[in-house]
Amino acid sequence: MDKAPGNGKSMKEEKNARPAEKTTQESKEEVKSLNFLEQIVEQDLRDGVNDGRIQTRFPPEPNGYLHIGHAKAVCIDFGIAERYGGVCNLRFDDTNPVKEDQEYVDAIMEDIHWLGFNFANVYYASDYFEQLYQFAERLIMEGHAYVDELTAEEIAQQKGTPTTPGQNSPYRDRPREESLDLFRRMNKGEFEDGAMTLRAKIDMASDNMHFRDPIIYRIISKYPHHRTGTKWHVYPMYDFAHGQSDYFEGVTHSICTLEFVPHRPLYDYFIDLLKPKDDSYRPRQYEFNRLNLTYTVMSKRKLLYLVKSGLVNGWDDPRMPTLCGLRRRGYTPESIRNFIERVGYTKYEGTIDVSLLEYAIREDLNEHATRVSAVLDPVKLTITNYPEDKTEVFQAVNNPQDETSGTHDMTFSKHLWIERDDFKEEAPSKYFRLTPGGREVRLKNAYIIRCTGCVKDADGKVTEVLCEYDPDTLTGMAGASRKVKSTIHWIAREEAIQCEVRLYDRLFKDEQPQTDGDTPIEELLNPDSLKVIDHALIEPFAKDVQPGTRLQFQRIGYFVADKDSTAEKLVFNRTVTLKS
Ligand code: ATP
Ligand code: MG
Repeated sequence: MDKAPGNGKSMKEEKNARPAEKTTQESKEEVKSLNFLEQIVEQDLRDGVNDGRIQTRFPPEPNGYLHIGHAKAVCIDFGIAERYGGVCNLRFDDTNPVKEDQEYVDAIMEDIHWLGFNFANVYYASDYFEQLYQFAERLIMEGHAYVDELTAEEIAQQKGTPTTPGQNSPYRDRPREESLDLFRRMNKGEFEDGAMTLRAKIDMASDNMHFRDPIIYRIISKYPHHRTGTKWHVYPMYDFAHGQSDYFEGVTHSICTLEFVPHRPLYDYFIDLLKPKDDSYRPRQYEFNRLNLTYTVMSKRKLLYLVKSGLVNGWDDPRMPTLCGLRRRGYTPESIRNFIERVGYTKYEGTIDVSLLEYAIREDLNEHATRVSAVLDPVKLTITNYPEDKTEVFQAVNNPQDETSGTHDMTFSKHLWIERDDFKEEAPSKYFRLTPGGREVRLKNAYIIRCTGCVKDADGKVTEVLCEYDPDTLTGMAGASRKVKSTIHWIAREEAIQCEVRLYDRLFKDEQPQTDGDTPIEELLNPDSLKVIDHALIEPFAKDVQPGTRLQFQRIGYFVADKDSTAEKLVFNRTVTLKS
């Protein structure tokens, strides 16, 4: 800016003056500073590290659907490759057949594409089972690993604490040949799951607990693997698979979340053992803060529990933080990417307010969603001085934010539907909508009316609101410029189409649900997270919308047509209210 502060302009004017000078794209580029990961990559490029190659990977375990936390990882892994002319591969970290499934593999690929990213290749950690196994045998023969017959509990007991050293296993110094023989027999299926493990022989007194002879292979014999079937009876642990897979593929920047910081020395340790001394290439691990969001949980295990126990209607339930759930809720990929960009990448853990995500989708839909009239709790409105068999067709602007969006027809008649909430028989003085003898109100895109009374049933419930219109108040007419305090929406009674509307709200009651405490998850859920309205009404313009179409129900919120819609009945999900 060329203006210094204190030039007499208020902050507000100052702020408003900016965007007009630059296109949004230009100012975004200008403002965006590099995050710490981008800085590392740029430094590496300047230093010619790994011959100036940039290769990343997104490494999900196919044991659940992707959630918005994964989107944060996806955006940085693919984003870095895109920005610096590198390559990003998708690698399924499928080393535990107990929980993994092809269903998840397919869903993960679909969600990454939906977010707008393309992977160069699809790899699987299971592609490297043979190489990893051979490496494990080599480590045994070089004295870097041994077969341990202690149980998992015994191993945990002997691990020590961060301030006291652990104890060596009695099997630690068994002959290498004996370990090799046992390891081969483990893989032939000769032993029960859990009977023995292969452990790296490092240092039971290390300050880093992960160096205290970590388990690197375990027996899993009862579950076929989704790709390798029953070929293997031993499977590598994460720490023994991840870095090596990175190395086999040529990954340069292995980006993950902060909980892996203490694993990094082990990552480097195995790569040092694996790679030839004269190979100048090596992958390096970098960690950023996970995304945590208020009012939800982000662990696949807990999300699976919600699905399996029927507490939500599947992985794509619109209340879920999964990408397929957000998609069904009406979120756009752009809104999610913008949100992730705003949240940023740091080295500090924190929790992001879900309202920031809601802001991102509102911002996007404000620009792109067609405005329609829908009435969720209808009451009749009759314009007593409007001719009985007359109808008029008015133009409703599709989107005032977008001049090219055009208009659509709305039929107007004596008999309309309005929101019950837009009428009050006894109204406080600050109520500016319909009340008998009250002020004038504009019917959106039509006339100014004044309420004259109402009709009630035997129980005293209002069944019809009565009013008179001023024929001189259409756009372009003498009375059109008359100021009214409120404008309400409506649908002609003969034209209104019935639809089902699902009002979604936060899944959990608490901002930070304590799902690891004593209270069962069931009791932490918001009992009002879904409210179904069977008999809402919508204008006929929406009649043929396809599932996935996003609309603004004027004055109510943003909605998306759901896949449960049929020829007989449209179903809409509320994405978000108009205001927070
Ligand atoms: P969960 O704890 O939900 O089961 P995970 O870490 O086990 O997640 P993976 O499939 O291993 O899930 O994750 C793939 C990648 O996504 C990893 O690099 C992981 O660090 C990253 N990731 C997972 N959750 C988040 C999150 N909340 N925020 C950012 N990145 C995440
Ligand atoms: Mg994981």
